[in-house]
Amino acid sequence: MTEENNKIKIHFYGGVEEVTGSNYLVEVPGERGSFKLLVDCGLFQGTKVSEEKNNEDFPYEPASIDALLVTHAHLDHIGRIPKLIREGFNGKIYSTPPTKDFAKLMLIDSIGVLSKEAKRNGKAGPIYDESDVEKAMTLWETRNYRQPFALGDIEIVFRDAGHILGSAMIEMKLMSSQSSGFEADQFASLTAGAGSKGHKKILFSGDLGNSPEPLLNPTEEISDADLMVIESTYGERLHEDVSEADNKLERMIEDVARTKGVLMIPAFSLERTQRILYQINNLVENGRIPRLPIYLDSPLSIKATAVYKNYLNLYNDEARNSVLAGDDLFNFPGLVQTLQTEDSKKISDSVSPKVIIAGAGMCNGGRILHHLKHYLPKENSVLLLVSYQAAGSLGRQLQDGAKLVTIMGEKVAVGAKVEKIWGYSSHADLNGLLQFASKSADTLKKVFVTHGELKSSSFFSQRLRDYMGINAVIPKIGESFEIPL
Ligand SMILES: [Zn+2]
Repeated sequence: MTEENNKIKIHFYGGVEEVTGSNYLVEVPGERGSFKLLVDCGLFQGTKVSEEKNNEDFPYEPASIDALLVTHAHLDHIGRIPKLIREGFNGKIYSTPPTKDFAKLMLIDSIGVLSKEAKRNGKAGPIYDESDVEKAMTLWETRNYRQPFALGDIEIVFRDAGHILGSAMIEMKLMSSQSSGFEADQFASLTAGAGSKGHKKILFSGDLGNSPEPLLNPTEEISDADLMVIESTYGERLHEDVSEADNKLERMIEDVARTKGVLMIPAFSLERTQRILYQINNLVENGRIPRLPIYLDSPLSIKATAVYKNYLNLYNDEARNSVLAGDDLFNFPGLVQTLQTEDSKKISDSVSPKVIIAGAGMCNGGRILHHLKHYLPKENSVLLLVSYQAAGSLGRQLQDGAKLVTIMGEKVAVGAKVEKIWGYSSHADLNGLLQFASKSADTLKKVFVTHGELKSSSFFSQRLRDYMGINAVIPKIGESFEIPL
C-alpha cells in the first residue's frame, strides 16, 4: 500500500454548520481505486438560500458513487436522492425497511412543494419528478438492524438510532486480513489499543433519538467507535422532562376547550405526529381532556401513520404489548383524518374549539399555512411548536416572537399565543449526546460534530473536549479530512 492510498477521506458536503442537507462522502482506498460511499443525500430546507443550494450541482460526479447509505427518512437526509439519480447515480441504495417505505411517501409528497419553489424561483421545473423517485425505489435495498453486509472492503451495520421508526446509525468497519486492500499487520498496529483487532470502526450517528420514548427502542449503545460523525441539533440545550411536556399539552387542550379557541400544532409527518397522536390517545382514554375534534390534516401523516402499523416488530415492548392487547395507539374518539383537500377546507367552517395537527413542521409549506392564515390573528388561538424550527423558516419567525408575518404573499398579524414544547423532540439533547459519545470514550480518536447550527455544534464540541478530552472538530461545508489507516 502506498502512502497515498492508506488514508480514508471524508468529505462534508451538507449538514454541517446547519441542520439540513446532510451529505457526506467517504472514499476508501482499495486495489481497484477508491470505493465511494455516500451517507445521506438530504434536502437543504428553511430559507431561499437553501432552495438555491438544492439546485446546485453536486460537488462530485454522481455516476462515480458506488453506493448510498441512508440513515433515516426525514427529508433533510433523503430529499436530494432522486436528483442524484437524475444526474447519473446508478449504484445501490441501502437503508432499513421502514426507511425505504417512508422515503417513497416523503419524496413523492415533496414534489408539490419543490414544484412551487421552482416556479417562484423562475426554474423550469422541480429538481426531480416521480420517475426519478420510481427509479430510486428500483435501486433501493433494505437491511435490518444489526445485519452486517459488505460493500467493497467495508462491512456495514445499521444500528438502531431511536430517532424515528427505522432510523439507523451507520457503522463502517474496514475489513481485515481477508480484504484485498490492506495488510493485517498494518491494521493490528494501527488499531492497537483501540479495543478492536484488524479493523477500524467509523460511526455516522445520523440523527440520535431522545430516549427513552414511548414507541421506539432506545438508541443502541456504541462502545468501540474509533471515529464518529455525530449530530448536534440540540448540542447546547437540555430538553424539558417528558411528563412536563405531557402536562403542558393537556393544559393547552383544556385552555382552548375553555376559550373555544383553536390549537394548531405544526408537526413533521414522521414521528412527531405519531408521538403527539400517542399522547392525545392517552389523554382521551384516561378522560383527562374534554371531548373536542382533533383534526389530523395531513395526507402524508395519515399515510406515514399507516406504515407504522406494518412495523410492530420495531416498537418497544410496552408499545407493542398495548397494540397486541387491542389499543390503536394512533386513533381515539374525536380524531378526524382529512385526506382530501375538500375535507381540509371544511375544517375552518367547523365550530371551535378544536385541535389541528398539520404539516409542515417548520410552517414552510403544507396545509398548516391555511390554518395559520385563518387563526393566527385570533387571540384565543394557540400555536404550539413541537419541532425544531430552522433559522429563516416561518416557524422560527413565530417562535422568535414575530408579530407580523407573510403567509402565501399576505401579511398576517399574530394575535395567537405561541407556545413551545421541547420534550417531544425526537433528538437527543446535550446530555443525551454526551452520554452517547462517552460510551466510546476509550476508543474514540476523533469526532466530527455536524448537523447543528454553529453555536450548537460549538457548545457540544467544547464539552467533548473539556469533559472527555476528545479531539472534536466542526467541519466546514465542502471540507475534507484524510484519516490515516
Ligand atoms: Zn431526522
